[in-house]
Amino acid sequence: MNHVNTVLGPRAPSELGRALVHEHVLIGYPGWFMDARMPPFVRAEALDRAVDAFQQLRAYGVQTVVDPCPMDLGRDVTFNAEVSQRSGVALISTTGAYFEAEGIPFMFRHFEMQEIADIYQKEIEDGIGGSGIRPGLLKIATGDGVVSDYERKLLTAAAKVAKITGVPLLSHTQNCTCGHEQIDIVTGEGNEAHRLLVGHSCGRDDHPYQKSLAERGAYVGFDRFGITIFNSDESRMKNLKQMIDAGFRDSLLVSHDKVNCWMGGIPGIGSPDAVKDIVPNWRMTQLFETIFPALVEMGVDQSDLDHIVSENVRRFFAGDSKPH
Ligand SMILES: [Zn+2]
Repeated sequence: MNHVNTVLGPRAPSELGRALVHEHVLIGYPGWFMDARMPPFVRAEALDRAVDAFQQLRAYGVQTVVDPCPMDLGRDVTFNAEVSQRSGVALISTTGAYFEAEGIPFMFRHFEMQEIADIYQKEIEDGIGGSGIRPGLLKIATGDGVVSDYERKLLTAAAKVAKITGVPLLSHTQNCTCGHEQIDIVTGEGNEAHRLLVGHSCGRDDHPYQKSLAERGAYVGFDRFGITIFNSDESRMKNLKQMIDAGFRDSLLVSHDKVNCWMGGIPGIGSPDAVKDIVPNWRMTQLFETIFPALVEMGVDQSDLDHIVSENVRRFFAGDSKPH
């Protein structure tokens, strides 16, 4: 692919620079507005907060961030465009919908696969909701352990559109399951596996699973550093080093899955204010502040970490084939 759509227009993959592949500017779970106990969403305040967070990231040389918010979790590309403009960090948004249990399946449940493909393709070609802002990635998502019929329909639609448009795919997985099923569906529509980043593959201490994804040629997302309620960062670092030691450096992409602004609350947790106590190190600078230095202490070369946050990102978007 010779260009990537950012919220401020096309860029060459070689211009992306240092990048994080999975951070959220803004999230609102389906029905977020139904809980009157939660703090009201004040857009201007949220914008200021997001701009501040992305400016802090720039201090670590990060030039580009992928915001993989699916269309049914409050995706707001004009919000992202303002954050990008004010912070100086390029943002890449996505088209695609979330997994059945946590998204808004009502509409797409009634559509044929081809209708959903047409919608994704229209967003890529014409922009999102009249904004003219085009997504740079297709988001796919599966639930825990089983790909539902609904999810299979959406994944197939996204894979077809990836093949037609050359836009790569990024996924959500639950509990390190269904990564292989995602690869099957993506390659089944004629795409090479390296067009897919299998997200959240660091959710469990499971080197064999992570390695098996890379062996098939997919990118493997170690993209939840700081979310220590699912897995410890120590476990993630151990597994990341195992991948590098096993020769899979070029298959790795890293991030935090940070949510910078919430609309409403978080089911099961409550107010967004509670998050700070539960995951105190969940911030977009954590990789550079503590994780990378700790990995270097463990014997990983800094040059390999720099390679992962820059060259691997460039290669993923460019669609270059990989050694595995
Ligand atoms: Zn996410």
